[in-house]
Amino acid sequence: MIPFLDLKKINEPYETAFQEKLKLVLNNGWYILGKEVETFEKAFAKYCKADYCIGVGNGFDALVLVFKGYIELGKLQKGDEVIVPANTYIASILAILRADLVPVLVEPKLETYNINPDLIQEKITPKTKAILAVHLYGQLAEMDKINKIALENNLLVVEDAAQSHGAVGGNSNILKSQIPNDKDDQKSKIYNLKSAIAYSFYPGKNLGCLGDGGAVVTNDTALAKVIFSLRNYGSEQKYHNEYIGVNSRLDELQAGFLNLKLPNLDSDNNKRRKIAKRYLSEIKNDKIILPFWDFLENHVFHLFVIRTENREALQQYLTDNQIQTIIHYPIPPHQQKAFKDWNKLSFPITEKIHNEVLSLPISPVLTHDEVSFIIRILNQY
Ligand SMILES: *Cc1c(COP(=O)(O)O)cnc(C)c1O
Repeated sequence: MIPFLDLKKINEPYETAFQEKLKLVLNNGWYILGKEVETFEKAFAKYCKADYCIGVGNGFDALVLVFKGYIELGKLQKGDEVIVPANTYIASILAILRADLVPVLVEPKLETYNINPDLIQEKITPKTKAILAVHLYGQLAEMDKINKIALENNLLVVEDAAQSHGAVGGNSNILKSQIPNDKDDQKSKIYNLKSAIAYSFYPGKNLGCLGDGGAVVTNDTALAKVIFSLRNYGSEQKYHNEYIGVNSRLDELQAGFLNLKLPNLDSDNNKRRKIAKRYLSEIKNDKIILPFWDFLENHVFHLFVIRTENREALQQYLTDNQIQTIIHYPIPPHQQKAFKDWNKLSFPITEKIHNEVLSLPISPVLTHDEVSFIIRILNQY
């Protein structure tokens, strides 16, 4: 069986280094917010060409703490509306709700699976205060258009980058964004939106640790300061509490593991892109719709998601041929039991995506022969 994702194989090369890291942390005798977390925060901020990285407990908390941080700063208020794609992973929506804000769902584009910027304006009301852009499956959302809408409507922009570590592109606020020299041009205005970006280091993500982990990356000094405090009971100085915070700290040991894996993130992503290129050029079957990619660095292929009309039949066929696939995701958020109030709403594009998508194996450890086999079996379908 070709597994969908072989995490054991992904982490195997680090085994000795992981054990040495454990020894180091044991020897230090410092287990919470120590040197490893500090080192990782510096390294990941640098990798992102951003000013701040705040390590937190997981990706969900990273999103919640961004929103709560903006509330503490008076930039958001309870009950404000946040635009979010209707087909995102449930965590994006739950995070908005957890911060006492109101998610407003917007349809994605069928081709990119990312939010359709042309449909945002019509959902903006006087209560709309932010857009949560999600870079689904590893491909950056259309940040230039999203930032323009945000600028025109005075909205905050938050990015859910839980699936897109290392994706680079255009006017995105994300990783390695170019700081424009001309302070007056449109680009620099967009840059000065100083948005906040949330990452998850859940084991299966492109940069994953051996447990839960997450981070917020931002250039906003005030926001960073609040989140550093909020993640640790709202206290910067021990036993002095400025905010009603939470306990959501990036674990020292997990940070140690991430320090070992971060240097390989770009090469791992390139291995994923290479496989994606092969899938895109070699899979030739009218029954299969391949994902859109313009071959830029704006996609890190967290997932390779195809569409097909009779998805269950294709999945069964692949299982019969020893190829494991997964559906991301089978039920759209608005049809989940948890969101009863939304169950009657209609999002046809979102529903079509959820009915037709199937994720093929893709990872830095998938071999050339395995990819060839998957392509051959798909072409015979
Ligand atoms: C994984 C994920 C999250 C949540 O991350 P956790 O670390 O599991 O809390 C949020 N948004 C998206 C799009 C994700 O894929």
